[in-house]
Amino acid sequence: MTSTPHNFTIESCIDLLDASPSPFHAVAEFGQRLLDAGATELSLGDEWNSTSVDGFRFIRRDGALIAWKTPSTSQAAPDMLLVGAHTDSPCFKLKPSPDIYQHGWNQLSVEVYGGILNNSWLDRDLGLAGRVVSASGETALIRTDAIARIPQLAIHLDRGVNDGLRLDPQTHLTPIWGLNEPSRSVVEHLQDISGLDSVAWWDISLFDTQPAARLGANRELLASGRLDNLVSCWAAVTALCATSPSEQLQVIVLNDHEEVGSASATGAGGPTLEQVLTRIVAARGGTNADLARALSQSMCISADNAHALHPNYPDRHDHSHAPVVNKGPAIKVNVNQRYATSSISAQRYAALCEAAGLQTQVFSSRNNIPCGSTIGPITATRLGIDTIDVGVPQLSMHSARELCGVDDPITLAQSFIACWS
Ligand code: ZN
Repeated sequence: MTSTPHNFTIESCIDLLDASPSPFHAVAEFGQRLLDAGATELSLGDEWNSTSVDGFRFIRRDGALIAWKTPSTSQAAPDMLLVGAHTDSPCFKLKPSPDIYQHGWNQLSVEVYGGILNNSWLDRDLGLAGRVVSASGETALIRTDAIARIPQLAIHLDRGVNDGLRLDPQTHLTPIWGLNEPSRSVVEHLQDISGLDSVAWWDISLFDTQPAARLGANRELLASGRLDNLVSCWAAVTALCATSPSEQLQVIVLNDHEEVGSASATGAGGPTLEQVLTRIVAARGGTNADLARALSQSMCISADNAHALHPNYPDRHDHSHAPVVNKGPAIKVNVNQRYATSSISAQRYAALCEAAGLQTQVFSSRNNIPCGSTIGPITATRLGIDTIDVGVPQLSMHSARELCGVDDPITLAQSFIACWS
């Protein structure tokens, strides 16, 4: 059985979830945890040499982060084991002209980000969190307390609501955040808490302010916003901090914008991971051909949550391939390449987990309910690297408040260490 470092606790994961209401906050929190564990931050804008890239290092850019530990061998392009996850979650984001004053209310003009479950955002106490930019280009992270709410219509005004709730995202999901006497613009509010002399632009998410909580008779369940996919990010960072250097280059990549297709500078479809790997190899004296050779015999573990068997909707699952909570990460298979898992990558991951005494499960969707996708196929396509998609089983994916087990995130982190060892 893999030994368990002291920070491999669900409380460490809960602290991370509560500290990370936006991808920018997640990257800030992970950056601090990496620094605390002895990592050194590199700047993408600096020149790198072998001294700067060797050891425990990381870079961050906006809502994305890449960290690595180099092996003790001097080989310029060692074999690699990458762990990937994503920092973003479906939510509402503030539009450029955010104030609406109507019918006696102050409201927020918001845009839907990713595939939200509309109803899950109703009647929650919402805060604003993310990055603000001043007129002169200064940036700051901001986070408010609960200040907004998307109020549901009373049942007396919609007697048929329980026969099927229909929500128009433009008209029914506009948050309120006060009464417009006295009126105060949201920009003024953001500026006050930012400490900047102006606020001109922003990347601001709405988030449910209810902290993460353990549920269940034996407190075996974890409820929180953003479980998809911060539990995988937590597992990746926690494992990298704890693992000892091996003969592999150990890499984690936390991408933004997975929920909207990954096509961005900081998404898995962007060039940042490939550029960082190229620069590490070059700084160690290798060539692009050396990198290509190493990638051909390396592996990527793409970690993103999976659908656990829902007891109220058993007909939505293929029961031979329906993971359950707290029985280990699910290996996700889709022959149409919505997941990148191959028989080779599956065998390698499953065997290393089994040798470490860790349980795994399998997920495959029903043929009449197509599954989602994630960063695994995109990373495999960009790098030509053998990839496996795995994930913590959860319910209520893309709800404002999701549910998983307290054991699976820890098992996932242990599985990364088993693969790196
Ligand atoms: Zn996800």
